Amino acid sequence: MTESNMNAVHVCPKCNGQMIQGKLRGDSTVLWSQIKESKIFGVTAIQTVGTTYTVDAYRCEQCAYLELYAAREAGNKNGS
Ligand SMILES: [Zn+2]
Repeated sequence: MTESNMNAVHVCPKCNGQMIQGKLRGDSTVLWSQIKESKIFGVTAIQTVGTTYTVDAYRCEQCAYLELYAAREAGNKNGS
């Protein structure tokens, strides 16, 4: 077992091309978490529950396929 897969090469599931790690932009931070919806007076409230993860995006150089990973916990409350 290796200590880390950080530098592992990602292979495109569509065309077996090499995938390059990046980030989704356009929002300050893209996060993934489980949500819980509840209706309060007919209004749907969305609440996040459990762990929040930062999202990494891998893009295939050959066919432009995007694959998203939410592998790292975004647990830092005061930045780094
Ligand atoms: Zn591809």
